[in-house]
Amino acid sequence: MPDFPPGQVWLAGAGPGDPGLLTLHAVNALNQADTVIYDALVGEAILACAKPAAMLEYAGKRGGKPSPKQRDITLRLIELARQGRRVLRLKGGDPFVFGRGAEEALALREAGIPFRIIPGISAGIGGLAYAGIPLTHRDTNSCVTFLTGHNAQGELPDSLDWAAMVRASPVLVIYMAMKHLDRLVAKLRHAGLAGDRPAALVSHATLPQMRVLTATLDTIVGRAAADGFAPPALFVIGEVVNLQQQFGTSNLQAMLLPDRDVSCQKAS
Ligand code: SAH
Repeated sequence: MPDFPPGQVWLAGAGPGDPGLLTLHAVNALNQADTVIYDALVGEAILACAKPAAMLEYAGKRGGKPSPKQRDITLRLIELARQGRRVLRLKGGDPFVFGRGAEEALALREAGIPFRIIPGISAGIGGLAYAGIPLTHRDTNSCVTFLTGHNAQGELPDSLDWAAMVRASPVLVIYMAMKHLDRLVAKLRHAGLAGDRPAALVSHATLPQMRVLTATLDTIVGRAAADGFAPPALFVIGEVVNLQQQFGTSNLQAMLLPDRDVSCQKAS
């Protein structure tokens, strides 16, 4: 595995939660980093792979306080790299999928800081697999659309042609869908999506507290409210949701047996 040179920033994805879904490159980076700057979706079992002397800095929301401004996080990465530290910027899922990795990489490039990108398994792919929802099946769909329920202002994205998207894409996977779930469903219905389309919510995917809720587009909001469904969650709409009944969550059960230590090994 590659050496992590001092003065560099590596932007890495930690996957959706289960430490077993870290890549070897991510573990290698964790084993060598002097500072790890991590987001809310990166759990303790993953941070346990950092070397004991590493500084761990949290860059997400905490205790109701707003998260640090993106600019401040970027400046911190640059500052630490200029001090000659090996800086690991660790994000949930994949850094380039709704993860602001591109913004941070551009800022590093502008500042002349050498960096590299370590992709991760995005929640919309690996997380749904653990929930028993395949993204494609040849009988149902040959395309998938990933979208976010939030734009930079925290609102539903307004730059989307919703009607065209609904017409063109048989499967939608929506990140950050919980905050405006009711408005999102109304928007999709208005755009022409039928109310009886199979729909699912998956929260805390790949973690022991994972929950899967299957319903239809018209019933999902009520079911989610009744169940007290909470983020982080993915919202999936399409025929592939029907396969969930057949696959179940056996993958999770197999990977997270109670007597199995899924946390990754600390560097010796
Ligand atoms: N870069 C990340 C996405 C960051 S946006 C990735 O590639 O996965 C944050 C959103 O990701 C959450 O609001 C939720 O929609 C989704 N998400 C991330 N981890 C998740 C998990 N374990 N279970 C369900 N959704 C998750």
